[in-house]
Amino acid sequence: MDHPKELEGFRYVGDKRNQVVHEIKSCLTPAKIEDIIANQAYATFGPDELSEARNRGYRLSSCCSAN
Ligand SMILES: [Zn+2]
Repeated sequence: MDHPKELEGFRYVGDKRNQVVHEIKSCLTPAKIEDIIANQAYATFGPDELSEARNRGYRLSSCCSAN
């Protein structure tokens, strides 16, 4: 997918509505990421790492191949 402008420079994006995190470049269902952005429900992490997302209660979505 094209990297969304809102998420430029980020590897991971979280969905605040369901505490799921996607790896942008490996996500198999980019429509989900587009939906997150359209609903302004995105969360980013600092550092931008899966371990940080997990620390904040997010789990990696099954649609991302890094799973
Ligand atoms: Zn995904």
